[in-house]
Amino acid sequence: AQKKRAPSYVGVFSKTLEKRIHRELTLKDGLSEAIELNQFHLLYQPIVRASDCHVVSFEALLRWTLNQENIPPDEFIAIAEQYGQIRHIGAWVLEQACKTASLWPKHIAVCVNVSVVQLQDDDFVALVVRLLERYQLSAERLHIEMTESVFTSDISFLSEQIQALQDLGVKVSIDDFGTGYSSLSSMQDLAVDTVKIDRSFVNNIDSNGHAIITAVMQIAKALDYSVVAEGIETQQQLESLRQLNVDYLQGYYFAKPLTEQAVQQLLSSSAAPKLIRGS
Ligand code: C2E
Ligand code: MG
Ligand code: MG
Ligand code: MG
Repeated sequence: AQKKRAPSYVGVFSKTLEKRIHRELTLKDGLSEAIELNQFHLLYQPIVRASDCHVVSFEALLRWTLNQENIPPDEFIAIAEQYGQIRHIGAWVLEQACKTASLWPKHIAVCVNVSVVQLQDDDFVALVVRLLERYQLSAERLHIEMTESVFTSDISFLSEQIQALQDLGVKVSIDDFGTGYSSLSSMQDLAVDTVKIDRSFVNNIDSNGHAIITAVMQIAKALDYSVVAEGIETQQQLESLRQLNVDYLQGYYFAKPLTEQAVQQLLSSSAAPKLIRGS
């Protein structure tokens, strides 16, 4: 006689788990040929000086289209880190960003997200030197945004790498400051140039975010870091952040991430493009 199957919760759970693993492996396989198949491109989001809203730099943000689907970087970067693909992809990003920025006016910098996994690589600094040379980009125009998605055990090597980049003239920032591992200890152990306050605090600026940003500003000023706030979406947030003396601002209120062509258009519209709504 056939045995009746008891309803299995394990089965339900393993179905979702199975789906997740399948998705992860599909993305992993896809990532390994995404460069060759031209599936990546970069968008560039302006960063403005808080005092007058002049554009000072653009952050390069990676986009991946796989079978008509836009896979968000928050999903695929983690996979690329996990499967050792981030070095290859990161080198591609860095090269594209340097090449593009070399066409911009000399006072405009490009900010590139670099995973701590890449920074741990012995060859990373040499790669930066090579690309700056190849595209005749002065080091001051390259900003490295360190994204700390995995815990770093070798903080002293990381600190050496950061110093080597700074010796070249490259600026280094801690991204998503205040979240995950990017906390006070990284400020203590790593002498960076800039901290980028995570957008969750800007989003909460009417409540607890205000006190937190105030505290971050105090520490940043004492340690001589400049501060960028991310995720500004309203005029009110702009005003509050100005009052808190945040140096630079980035967010949909000024502009969404733009194509290379849209950046060119913006940069050719004026010698010192300014981004304020309705003006
Ligand atoms: P991130 O470096 O903190 O970049 C800022 C993210 O916030 C971007 O998301 C941007 O599109 C989004 N954003 C900007 N302004 C606003 C706003 O006003 N409101 C809201 N809701 N969002 C805003 P995106 O492009 O999806 O990138 C997500 C993350 O993926 C980045 O966060 C970064 O950690 C990572 N990432 C992106 N490109 C690269 C890359 O080339 N290399 C590495 N290693 N990581 C990358
Ligand atoms: Mg960033
Ligand atoms: Mg960030
Ligand atoms: Mg982030």
